[in-house]
Amino acid sequence: MTKDDIQNITALLNSPQNIIIVPHKNPDGDAIGSALGLFHYLKNSNRHEVKIIAPNDYPDFLKWMPGEADILKYDLEPNICDTLIKEASIIFTLDFNALNRIGGMELPVSESTAIKVMIDHHQQPDDYADFMYSDVSMSSTCEMVYHFIDMLGDTDVIESDIASCLYAGIMTDTGSFRFPSTTSTTHNVIAKLIEKGANNSEIHNNIHDTNSHDRLRLLGCALQNLKVLPDFRTAYITLSQNELNRFNFKKGDTEGIVNYALSLQGIRFAAIFIENQKEGIVKISLRSKGTFSVNEFSRAHFGGGGHVNAAGGKSDLDMKATIEKFISILPSYINALNDE
Ligand code: 5GP
Ligand code: MN
Repeated sequence: MTKDDIQNITALLNSPQNIIIVPHKNPDGDAIGSALGLFHYLKNSNRHEVKIIAPNDYPDFLKWMPGEADILKYDLEPNICDTLIKEASIIFTLDFNALNRIGGMELPVSESTAIKVMIDHHQQPDDYADFMYSDVSMSSTCEMVYHFIDMLGDTDVIESDIASCLYAGIMTDTGSFRFPSTTSTTHNVIAKLIEKGANNSEIHNNIHDTNSHDRLRLLGCALQNLKVLPDFRTAYITLSQNELNRFNFKKGDTEGIVNYALSLQGIRFAAIFIENQKEGIVKISLRSKGTFSVNEFSRAHFGGGGHVNAAGGKSDLDMKATIEKFISILPSYINALNDE
């Protein structure tokens, strides 16, 4: 983001605007945290009309965040949301790099004449925004929203609600500050957010210590299904629709499970395959350690993308055929997977 961009955005925000904030489909902690952090900032700092429209619902462990109850869900109220999108003068798109990441909102958002501002840290961003703040070296979009507010000269406006939402997203996207994307700057931002009133211990508790018994039993099932392919330093987990049903699956229950596969000693590449009968797909989450790019892997084979070490994708084949495809691809990556 250039100085000119910041000047132009400052000028825009100096008069009241109709603002819509959009996180990606199946929003995670970073998507919801950044949307709410920006929402509170824009509301606190001026007389804007601000609404968050999420493409669909998100896990219960994110629902403690201040302002969460005001988030509209596009799939539940498409007509009301379409009108709001039409009336918007500015649309902020957060934590995604291509408009196909917002599901049913892709058409109304791409047709809107509103000024679009992207804030995002994913690889290979599309060129749809009027103002683009894209930085793949950033830990999280929440960290970027902090820097954005800082560039606008407004860190004084940050109070405990903003601080808590941004803290939550930085924490979830960095795996509690352990992924390589966590820098000293990230920790400096975190320190400022705690000073501004983010209750770090309470936030960790709200997100990590609110499991249902069913969720832990589903984790047990996933670990039973774990398979290891030592030649490829790869481990993967499957969860069928039947297994999800057996443990009363709720959105968010599978979040983080893939990291257990990556936690095996010597493993460089981990995947989880989750059957979604309603959508007729197998949803895939990919994780890696080191230089093996799961973003490239997913783009090449599973129609997805993300970051070097964390990406998602999907398969239109059934579970058995998806796993066969996955295993058949691995030999062409054997050198990359055994690189270091
Ligand atoms: P997760 O595996 O936790 O769902 O997602 C890991 C990362 O990849 C996140 O940054 C997420 O936004 C991104 N991601 C997940 N699914 C997809 C997908 O289908 N397409 C793209 N381009 N990115 C995805
Ligand atoms: Mn993110």
